[in-house]
Amino acid sequence: MAKIIQIFFACACVLAVSAIPSGKSRNAYSYPFNFVGRESWGARPPNGATPLSLPVPYVVVHHSYIPPDCDTEDSCKHNMRLMQDMHQIVNGWQDIGYNFAVGGEGSVYEGRGWEAVGAHAVSYNVKSIGICMIGDFVGKLPPQAQLESLKKLIASGVELGYISRDYKLIGHRQVAATECPGQALFNEISTWDHFTPAL
Ligand SMILES: [Zn+2]
Repeated sequence: MAKIIQIFFACACVLAVSAIPSGKSRNAYSYPFNFVGRESWGARPPNGATPLSLPVPYVVVHHSYIPPDCDTEDSCKHNMRLMQDMHQIVNGWQDIGYNFAVGGEGSVYEGRGWEAVGAHAVSYNVKSIGICMIGDFVGKLPPQAQLESLKKLIASGVELGYISRDYKLIGHRQVAATECPGQALFNEISTWDHFTPAL
């Protein structure tokens, strides 16, 4: 009997681990895109962080508008530093506001990451991952590589257990008086799975 109970608990434990990957398997995860960590783009450390309650039920898409589009890793890293300066120094926030940003060349840039509350959509910060598409997408779509990396980043977040499987995808304009993420990009994401028109 003791043996049976032991086996039962061993199995239950394996199931629990597979439902939400442990820290170890998250660390071993390989992203299906070029991932540029904070140290690689020259981020300053955050002035504090608030832990996100995971998994989050929302993904909020933004565009940067300013700084403008970037299509090389060097120019996108530069834009990341500009955004961190604006948010952390000028606005006095703890850090760059977004959890992640995606460059025109398809790389994903780490902002606050998966586990810290962002500053990108008031009242949704504590229940979402905020992703900034670097560029101005009012009148034109991001390059295909940038759109694909946005989709893959969201899929990775679901796979890693940071984003709920039944997450709602929204544009910033749905929760604030803003044009963000730009009309063209908003039209695009409104055709994607999980897009939620009414909140
Ligand atoms: Zn926005």
